[in-house]
Amino acid sequence: MKQFTVRTKSQFEMIDITNQVRTALRENNVKSGICYVFVPHTTAAVTINENADPSVPLDIIMELDKVIPLHDNYRHLEGNSAAHIKSSLIGSSEAVFIEDGHLILGTWQSLFFCEFDGPRTRKFFVKLIAAT
Ligand code: ZN
Repeated sequence: MKQFTVRTKSQFEMIDITNQVRTALRENNVKSGICYVFVPHTTAAVTINENADPSVPLDIIMELDKVIPLHDNYRHLEGNSAAHIKSSLIGSSEAVFIEDGHLILGTWQSLFFCEFDGPRTRKFFVKLIAAT
C-alpha cells in the first residue's frame, strides 16, 4: 500500500490525482488486477470524472453546494456538516481495473481527490491487487 499527501488550497477543490496513482502502479509492476484508491477523511472524497474541461469539476462543486448548503440548521457543532454530507455522497473509495500495466480509464476520465473542507493537508492510499 502506498500513501500520498495532497495539500489543498481552497475550501472546495477537485484535484486530479491520476498521475500519482499511476506512479504507484509503475513502482509495483502490477500487470493485471485492481487498483483501490481510499481517502481516510470524513470531509473529503474521491471520484472519477472528466479531465478535459476544467469547468466540469467547478460545476460539480457548484451544484453540490446548492444541494448541500454550507449553512443550514445542522446539529454538528464543528460547523462543517455540509462537508461531511458531501463526503458521504461522493464516497471514500474508487476501484479501477489494471490491464497490461495500465489503469483502465476512459479517454476523458481521471481520478479526483475532492476537498470539501479545506484548505488542509490531506492523504489518500493506493492499494494494488494483482490478479493471478
Ligand atoms: Zn465535523
